[in-house]
Parts: sequence; C-alpha cells; structure tokens
Amino acid sequence: MKRARGQQPIINILSVDVEECFHATEVSGSGNGYPEARPAVEAQTRHVLELFERHRISATFFMLGMVAEKHPRLVREIAKQGHEIGCHSYAHSLVYDLTPQEFRQDTIRAVRCIEDACGLTPRTYRAPSYSITAKSLWALEILVELGFTHDSSIYPIRHDRYGIPGFGRHAQRYETPAGPICEVPIATAQLSSNRLVPVGGGGYLRLLPYCYTAAGVRRINASEGQPACLYFHPWELDPDQPRLTSSLVSTLRTYRGLRTMTGKVERLLSDFAFGPLTAVHPVEEPALVLVR
Ligand SMILES: [Zn+2]
Repeated sequence: MKRARGQQPIINILSVDVEECFHATEVSGSGNGYPEARPAVEAQTRHVLELFERHRISATFFMLGMVAEKHPRLVREIAKQGHEIGCHSYAHSLVYDLTPQEFRQDTIRAVRCIEDACGLTPRTYRAPSYSITAKSLWALEILVELGFTHDSSIYPIRHDRYGIPGFGRHAQRYETPAGPICEVPIATAQLSSNRLVPVGGGGYLRLLPYCYTAAGVRRINASEGQPACLYFHPWELDPDQPRLTSSLVSTLRTYRGLRTMTGKVERLLSDFAFGPLTAVHPVEEPALVLVR
C-alpha cells in the first residue's frame, strides 16, 4: 500500500455480501426462493478469499442465511481464514417489504443457520439492498433486541430503491428504544458543490473506472480523516455467470464490468488498508462521530 513514510494508513472497512447472483434484487424481484439456477457462490467466494489471503486482508462477510444453510462448509472456511461473519438476512427480502414481526423471524432464522454452520453468532447486520430506509428504521431496534452491535444497511444517498438522504455519512451511535447500535453507512463523497456521490458500492466499482472509487476513498481518508465502508458481492467477479435479467437497465446494472472487476478489487487491496467492520469500530471504544 502506498503511503508517505511514517504515516499510519486509515483502515477502511471492506465487506462482502455473500449471496448467489440470482438473489440480487435486480434479478430476483422480491428475492424470495432459491431457484434452480447453477449454484456458484462457493467457487465465487473462494476466489474472493484467495484475493484477500494474497493481500493479507481481513474483512466482514455478510452471509445470507439461505446460503449458510446450503453451504455450511463455506461459512466455516471464511471464519477459519480470520474474517468476520455477519448476517445478510435469511431470504434476501427487502426490509421495508416486511412487517416488524416478519423481519424478526427472518433475522432469527438467518442467525440460526449461520450458528449451525460455523458455531459463531453474527453481531453485524447488512440488509438486502440497503433496505433499512426512513420507513423501516424500526428494524434497528429489533437488531439491538436480537443482540446485534453493528449495522451497515444505510446508504445516505437518494436512490430509486434505497437510501436515507441526510443521514450521517460516517459511523455513529444510533439510539433505539432497546439501546444503541453502531450504524456504519456505506461510503459517500462530498463534492465541493455540497452534492453527495456514492462511493462504497460494488456496482460503482464495476461500472465506473477504478479512479472514481479510489479518488472517493482518498478524499474520505485524507480530507475527513474517516474510514470508507466499501462492499461488493462474490458474483460481481464472475464474468461467466448466467444472464438472468430481462430489462436493459437491470442487465447493465448487474452484468456490466464483470470482466474487469477482479483487477479493480486487486488494485483497491494494493492501494488502501482494509479491515472488518468491528475492528474499525469496536464496541468497547466506539469512537463514533455523529455527523448530521
Ligand atoms: Zn444482497
């Protein structure tokens, strides 16, 4: 990693949402069910593990409960390599489409699948498609009640399916009636025009030139002294996956840039320091910055 002599790098947060390509909201619609498509998540995730091992990086892997249930050995492999195991729901249903009771049941089921697979209880949560929005913020209280200490489900931007514009851009202690939770939003960069642009997503890394994401992370680290929270999916590094979308927009959002994605991830791992979510924002010393 390139840095000036004597200067400690900021540890950014790297997260991987472990799901099959047909769980992506652009592909699945509601995301329910486990269709008879070719399961590829094991090979795709092992490719990611190999990259991380080569670059000596540990990250947070948010496991879909349904994947943990079908591929318990994979969850054990991820944990054995020293990565943090988080929860990405059971069935990839969007939180704002669920009732609080349905969300609670889905989360409990996912936690049990992950525990059964690797013996670890996940304490970090990522909602499918960032679906904790203004109308589903009640989910954070349920996560606290279920023992979660960290959530990374809020994208503080305007988007057609997710986002809470105006939500703090950096990790913050969020108070719920059940107690606090550390909310770690996905990275955004503030332009001089005061406009916010998304930085953290696998889609932006895949669809745009590498320098877009790199410049965003540098700006957050250097100008604000804060870590950036980035994510991608294992299927985004697999150019040979079946094409399952029907509309042009969904096809572009899902499949464009697959072939160059591995090289871009490698560059990120070389250019920046990364760690798992709770290592960057530990529970004992939250070091939370409230930015509204
Ligand atoms: Zn997902």
